[in-house]
Amino acid sequence: MASYDVIVIGAGPGGYLAAIRCSQLGLKTACVEGRETLGGTCLNVGCIPSKALLHATHQLHEAEHNFVTMGLKGKSPSVDWKVMQEYKDTVVSQNTGGIEFLFKKNKIDWLKGWGSIPEAGKVKVGDEVHEAKNIIVATGSEPASLPGIEIDEKIVVSSTGALALNKIPKKMIVVGAGVIGLEMGSVYARLGTEVTVVEFLDHITPGMDKEVQRNLQKILKKQGMEFILNSAVQSVETTKTKAKLTYKSRKDDSESTLEADVVLIATGRKPYTDGLGLSELGVEMTERGQIKTDDHFSTNIKGIYAIGDAITGPMLAHKAEDEGYAVSDIIGGKHGHVNYGVIPSVIYTHPEVASVGKTEEQLKDEGRAYKAGKFPFMGNARAKAIFAAEGFVKILVDKETDRILGAHIVGPSAGDLIHEVCVAMEFGASAQDLALTCHAHPTYSEAVREAALACGDGPIHA
Ligand code: FAD
Repeated sequence: MASYDVIVIGAGPGGYLAAIRCSQLGLKTACVEGRETLGGTCLNVGCIPSKALLHATHQLHEAEHNFVTMGLKGKSPSVDWKVMQEYKDTVVSQNTGGIEFLFKKNKIDWLKGWGSIPEAGKVKVGDEVHEAKNIIVATGSEPASLPGIEIDEKIVVSSTGALALNKIPKKMIVVGAGVIGLEMGSVYARLGTEVTVVEFLDHITPGMDKEVQRNLQKILKKQGMEFILNSAVQSVETTKTKAKLTYKSRKDDSESTLEADVVLIATGRKPYTDGLGLSELGVEMTERGQIKTDDHFSTNIKGIYAIGDAITGPMLAHKAEDEGYAVSDIIGGKHGHVNYGVIPSVIYTHPEVASVGKTEEQLKDEGRAYKAGKFPFMGNARAKAIFAAEGFVKILVDKETDRILGAHIVGPSAGDLIHEVCVAMEFGASAQDLALTCHAHPTYSEAVREAALACGDGPIHA
């Protein structure tokens, strides 16, 4: 039996970051992980492999659609799916190996296996029971399906199966028009798959700004993705090679069917806490199966903390990371804090979509007087040069004080551009502060400045 200051259960972005931070703070730390590799959902079957496939297929899209216009002639590249998969797997193993290196560097013990908490202060892995003054549960989440629909990871797949199909399907149905569905749908649409997205709501990307939703749907449609909105999936029947999906229109209750080689169920994820023994310990949970925590990430049991996808809040890697950092600082006697008002979210389609803070709909609901400053990428020279002038930057500010309340971007590198606004928001900046900051030319971020100008006297290039 070994004794630790901290044992983290789960080595995803929340858990591995917490382990590294605890170790930096001089705490004797171990991290339990049942997977063969570190990095959790994010590095193994989430953020990283999906971005590798999005990158590869975007290159193909550029070759097929834009190379000739730039005077780059010749045959478009043909796709070797096996090699593309190998490239994706290499990216994953480089990253998971990187975390293993960081664990060694920071003298963190990787306790290999599935952990449980037989009692507060103890973590069991296999037959071994270890002592821990503090336990951080960072066990993440798993794909959620729909009632009556079974995921076989061959014909009916979750995102995990969709990342590793044995061949490129001719037809794919994506159930759910959220981030994961649209990203994976984009990958296959670019590879020539006929992609149809079926969504329960009458809009895509639930929770995002309405203008962003409409703009993105139009762009993705132009890229070949079909959308069936306002429709409830009833069932999926499968044969060895095909699937038949039945859905009901929520407008008129009429039933229709679609056939495809693969159905991707992308209807969200649910917290994963199986086998930890939380109910036996009396750990309080929310109605949605998340671990209940207070402002300091503590559960109702002293010495047991929880972070990441397993607790409430957006299921995002950087949210899990920030919580990992904060909880470690709290355990280490410092002040740990996460500002949930400034957590960006990004969709890595092309163009990318990024948002932070309030949407216009939220501000209207709150009855808050606001102003919107908007600038289209059509007025941005750099975006035009790379055939990426669709989309816009929209900044929302308080009408009286000009303080930035939110920003929504559809455009090239939106996922990077958003951070300028995040920093501004953290400093309580006004749109004028952004507008008066010199922005290099020609960059996409000039569009952010122009949107900030649009909150005041008006943009220059529109
Ligand atoms: P996880 O990453 O889920 O890690 C939990 C780890 O705990 C797992 O490795 C699991 O094996 C381990 N574990 C569980 N129970 C035990 C146990 N009892 N004992 C030992 N080990 C255990 N987020 C973004 O921010 N950006 C993106 O671009 C993005 N893309 C995504 C794409 C896809 C396809 C998917 C599926 C998700 C994506 N996400 C993205 C979400 C992101 O992956 C998660 O929000 C993030 O991984 C959550 O981190 P976590 O540390 O809470 O848990």
